[in-house]
Amino acid sequence: MTLAAFACDPAHSRGRRYAETSAPTRTEYQRDRDRIVHSSAFRRLVYKTQVFLNHEGDLFRTRLTHSLEVAQLGRSIARSLELNEDLVEAIALAHDLGHTPFGHAGQDALNECMDGAGGFEHNLQSLRVVDQLEERYPLFDGLNLTFETREGILKHCSRLNAQTLEACEPGGVGRRFLDHTQPSLEAQLCNLADEIAYNAHDIDDGVRSGLITLEQLQVVPLFDDFRRQTLLEYAHLAGPTQGRRLLYEAIRRMLSAQVYDVIDTTRQALERAAPASVDAARAAQPLLSFSEDMRKKSMMLKQFLLQNLYRHPQVMLMTGQARQVIRELFEAYLREPVQMQAGFAVRAQTAGATSESAVTLRVVADYIAGMTDRFASREHERLTGQRLLA
Ligand code: MG
Repeated sequence: MTLAAFACDPAHSRGRRYAETSAPTRTEYQRDRDRIVHSSAFRRLVYKTQVFLNHEGDLFRTRLTHSLEVAQLGRSIARSLELNEDLVEAIALAHDLGHTPFGHAGQDALNECMDGAGGFEHNLQSLRVVDQLEERYPLFDGLNLTFETREGILKHCSRLNAQTLEACEPGGVGRRFLDHTQPSLEAQLCNLADEIAYNAHDIDDGVRSGLITLEQLQVVPLFDDFRRQTLLEYAHLAGPTQGRRLLYEAIRRMLSAQVYDVIDTTRQALERAAPASVDAARAAQPLLSFSEDMRKKSMMLKQFLLQNLYRHPQVMLMTGQARQVIRELFEAYLREPVQMQAGFAVRAQTAGATSESAVTLRVVADYIAGMTDRFASREHERLTGQRLLA
């Protein structure tokens, strides 16, 4: 792997919170990636929803397949920009670890439950998973990942949460939200790879589910230009049984166009700014981006998906039920913490806490956030006798 001067180099990592001896054959970022792949939270991603419920169809994306797609896109862009592929892969595979069951509906509901107790934010939760909630090592909580991987995982953070992080870990991963600086280019890349991945797969899943149609998508140039281009080259794909091939070919072209756009735009920005080190890249304006034209097209697509897919009546029905499941689970565990798995129940009790204390609320939030869609539905049925989303 050839690394540019502005790429993260594992030999110059800011290190781990608990000192460890280095591994004989793997770099620090490879170790981070391996720790993430072997974590329990990573395995649970397979049963967590992106837009569609896990049981609605075997071919829809889950958070696991989404994360793999982000890693693929990220690595491929990283290689052409001479950024650190291993770090990009580690961040990409961990970026959604803190997501609740039932996608954004779950996160919104949990955030409301935690109102007045620090709220709930999935980026911060991803960091909590790798810093505290995974129990895999004899002497410390979490996975003890390097600073650079943790920096990339914490994509957004409120000022208040950044201050709390800074108090526990001065100069740590919360710092940049107070200083308004950028994360490493590898972290910036993962954000964009995330966007490219879901732009494409939400069209794919949306069309195959029947919730949106190719006709509707004609108002979205980022997709429709490639659909028309494909038909010009392969007229037979207009046939009634060829819809899937047409969809895939258009999406493939759309993905490539976005990837090349990021690479070209970023190369130009890097030539202009010429950052001589990782820290120089962090101190600069965001250097990794789409061109202005692509950014606009991507925004149009997002608007379309928001109006036509994420707010589709069928999705909204699921969303409403998901919020109810999360809310009622939260109330049930708060009333009776002993209903949670032993480790969480003990944490809630040893907090010495009344059910209203911030510590108890956070334990309940951690427990619910870790659930898969189906486990949350089953638990809800067990505790309330009502069957929703199962
Ligand atoms: Mg994502």
